[in-house]
Amino acid sequence: MAKEDFYKLLGVDRNASDAEIKKSYRSKAMKHHPDRNKDNPAEAEAKFKQIKEAYEVLSDPKKRSAYDQFGHAGIDPSMGGGRSGGFGGGESFSDIFGDIFGGGRQQQQRSNVQRGSDLRYNLELSLEEAVFGTDAKIRVPVLVACGVCNGSGAKKGSSPVICSTCHGHGQVRMQQGFFSVQQTCPTCHGSGKQIKDPCGSCHGQGRVQENKTLSAKIPAGVDTGDRIRLAGEGEAGEFGGPAGDLYVQVQVKEHAIFTRDGANLYCEVPISFPTACLGGELEVPTLNGKVLLKIPAETQTGKLFRLRGKGVKPVRGGPVGDLLCKVQIETPVHLTKEQKALVEQLGESLSGGGKHHSPQESSWTDGVKNFFDKLTG
Ligand SMILES: [Zn+2]
Ligand SMILES: [Zn+2]
Repeated sequence: MAKEDFYKLLGVDRNASDAEIKKSYRSKAMKHHPDRNKDNPAEAEAKFKQIKEAYEVLSDPKKRSAYDQFGHAGIDPSMGGGRSGGFGGGESFSDIFGDIFGGGRQQQQRSNVQRGSDLRYNLELSLEEAVFGTDAKIRVPVLVACGVCNGSGAKKGSSPVICSTCHGHGQVRMQQGFFSVQQTCPTCHGSGKQIKDPCGSCHGQGRVQENKTLSAKIPAGVDTGDRIRLAGEGEAGEFGGPAGDLYVQVQVKEHAIFTRDGANLYCEVPISFPTACLGGELEVPTLNGKVLLKIPAETQTGKLFRLRGKGVKPVRGGPVGDLLCKVQIETPVHLTKEQKALVEQLGESLSGGGKHHSPQESSWTDGVKNFFDKLTG
């Protein structure tokens, strides 16, 4: 049987974005999932597998480009579909979607213990800390396994009993119209166990809240939006389940001098009017200390000077960025009588003599003239 086009299978354009492909895959997969097509599960399963295979290819940039170039021949036939191996053993909906929704944690539901939640910690860093890396001390409130009952939730000397509603499965089937829907057991909330005699310290939860201080190594070059994962430092699992992860979300504070754009840094440097005219050297700050910047004669305001390699080394590798200094020429203030006279003298000298001293002026004047000509004409 000839294979159907992957894009057609997912109902997307050939230039669809990753997000569009994912979205379309989700809705198609939901529609064709065998659990939802009880009247014709075999056909639904075949279709579902095709959709899954198409998604596995199109969601992977390498495979997608191979497919775009060579079609089905560009894809290794051994990779598609073989992995899932049918739906025999009561494979639940969430198992298949685990890879989309971020982690196969749902799989643990059936074993009655629940993995703890992931936590997020917002960490504010100065620009220097972000650029050079730091050891951050993080204090987080977390749920940890109760020390009195060792996380079981049952009073010392007693132990939880199997839930009578779901008989330990943690899930119950409910009939809703045509559908039979699997739901978390309302009695034991999915744990499969009931605690007759709860532990007094954790009130049967098996977990207690504690403040935990962690030390997180922040690598050099991180930027706002980067996340650092501390595996197993999230909330303790319920009833002895594994702990979740802690994600440290980086937010870089504004800097008094520098703005950052990826690997590059920007700053504005004021220069005096005489320096701009005659040229000179200027001390400019970098994150590693001061450096001398040569200002050529007749520098105009707004000119950007690039200091190579004085930017940031990106955390994911790649070349070190540059520092871009934008000079701003300052108009002198608080002039004495004498200074005013000198400026006046300079002005006269500049306007006389017939030499062209203002590089932007003539093109600007022409522009204004054209503008008015158009208005009146
Ligand atoms: Zn306890
Ligand atoms: Zn139950």
